[in-house]
Amino acid sequence: MAPLLEIKGLKTHFATDDGILQAVDGVDLSINKGETLCVVGESGCGKTVTAMSILKLIAMPPGRIVAGQIIFEGRDLVPLTSDQLDEVRAKEIGFIFQEPMTSLNPVLSIGEQIAESLRRHEAVTRKQALARTIEMLQLVQLPNAAGRVHDYPHQFSGGMRQRVMIAMALACKPKLVIADEPTTALDVTIQAQILDLLQDMKERFGMAVMLITHAMGVVAETAQRVVVMYAGKIVEEADVDSLFESPGHPYTQGLIRSIPRIDLAATHKTRLEAIGGSVPSLINPAPGCRFAARCRHVMSICTEVEPLLREIAPGHRMACHLGAVP
Ligand code: SF4
Repeated sequence: MAPLLEIKGLKTHFATDDGILQAVDGVDLSINKGETLCVVGESGCGKTVTAMSILKLIAMPPGRIVAGQIIFEGRDLVPLTSDQLDEVRAKEIGFIFQEPMTSLNPVLSIGEQIAESLRRHEAVTRKQALARTIEMLQLVQLPNAAGRVHDYPHQFSGGMRQRVMIAMALACKPKLVIADEPTTALDVTIQAQILDLLQDMKERFGMAVMLITHAMGVVAETAQRVVVMYAGKIVEEADVDSLFESPGHPYTQGLIRSIPRIDLAATHKTRLEAIGGSVPSLINPAPGCRFAARCRHVMSICTEVEPLLREIAPGHRMACHLGAVP
């Protein structure tokens, strides 16, 4: 069965005063119908730019998709005009942003915003749109949905605003929802509630979810398949069990070592291991493996030859020279 979304050879670059920044540099990934794919990596690894490139939500210029295809249900989205993409946005692919306050319109009530999205994409009357809006707000467990539908974004807490954002993204029942760090701006207990809500909505509507996160704990809780990105490239991809049981790439291993372990913390004095160093500049990156400066297994070939993604087990791919060099 063909994937719902297939990204092939995506390169998204940004023009800066210092040169061309290769934020996403040759990414291939796919999402199947009804699947949850987590894209994980540190800040600056290219995961958000990959997600935003799908619906051309990056500022162009200075950003530009310089190569690749983004095929959704058999149609390449890259050549589409803004009007054509408007048809895809919300109706086919919903987007949940990191900070809802920056994406909700502060001068329109939440009800007007959700109803407007419904009326733009579906043949519904004002009355029907309002009824559907209240229904969606109830589904995302907004307390007193009917009474608060005419309230404005600033009248809600951060967690409630994110529920409104989810209602808006799902109102037209898209086949795919992209959630870009949807819980980062929230406190820990609200984070868990929002992730549970997303999971509940996914099961209710049968949609696929592409979840962008820097937190391996979130990945372990939500993903079916995982793509690990580093410095604009995919370095590992596997189903969630394989990734946590036998991570192959030293970067993935480092991310997993940095997860707090409640079971160990109760009985041992444990120290979380951070990955030393930082993501390299993506303006004229050095040849070879982009993780080389931070890798405890670095070999001479690593600074000369770029490791390409290769299959190390069925459905498990990795871009590293470990195990490939005689
Ligand atoms: Fe480390 Fe070399 Fe693998 Fe890069 S290719 S992750 S430097 S071992």
